[in-house]
Formats: sequence, structure tokens, C-alpha cells
Amino acid sequence: MRTPAGKECKYYFEDHFRGRHTQECRLLQRNPQGGRWKPAHCRTCPVPDVLRQNACPHMALEGRVHKTLFGLREQIKVYAICTDTLREVADPAVGCGACHLHRPGAQILK
Ligand code: SF4
Repeated sequence: MRTPAGKECKYYFEDHFRGRHTQECRLLQRNPQGGRWKPAHCRTCPVPDVLRQNACPHMALEGRVHKTLFGLREQIKVYAICTDTLREVADPAVGCGACHLHRPGAQILK
């Protein structure tokens, strides 16, 4: 679904049918320590770009609201893990590289 910032994100949900006004980020919603989501967070959230750049089915994302600049600004921080190797993925846009090991000359990214 298209976020208020205009990007496609599979975690965004909205419902304006028959007078309803529901907007949700289901990535933050499923993290109990994720913080309180606001539609403005979608403007700077890295998740839509990560999803576009890396479609690995083994990568699981977790998001939380991170306060910066003396707590005045908020942005979404993303933590990624590979459910295949059970390792943290340092750069979710690139992935851990474990799926590409069958290719000659490939190495796991550190
Ligand atoms: S905050 Fe990020 S993950 Fe959540 S709906 Fe907006 S773009 Fe998607």
C-alpha cells in the first residue's frame, strides 16, 4: 500500500471506508518496544527502499521509533536478521549474502 509519503510499503495499512480513518504501521505495531507511530515517520523511513532493494525471503525486519537531536526529531530505525543463518544483517538493503554462496567466488558479507 502507498504510504502518506508516496512510497510503496507492505507494512503500511489504511482504511477510509465508510467514515473510518485508520492508518497503521504494522512493522512498528508488531514490536512491543517499537514506539508510537505517526504518519510523518514514513517520510524518512528506510523500509520502502530496503524492500525495493532487497527482496530476500529470509530477511526479517524489526522497526522502532528512534529519537534524535535532544529528543526533538524522530525517525524509524530498522534492525534486520537472516532467518536462514540466524545472523544480524548489517546492511538490510544489501543482505547478508548467504543465499549467494552457491555462486563461484562468492563470500558472506561481514
Ligand atoms: S513507517 Fe516505514 S515501515 Fe512503517 S508504514 Fe511508514 S514506510 Fe512503512
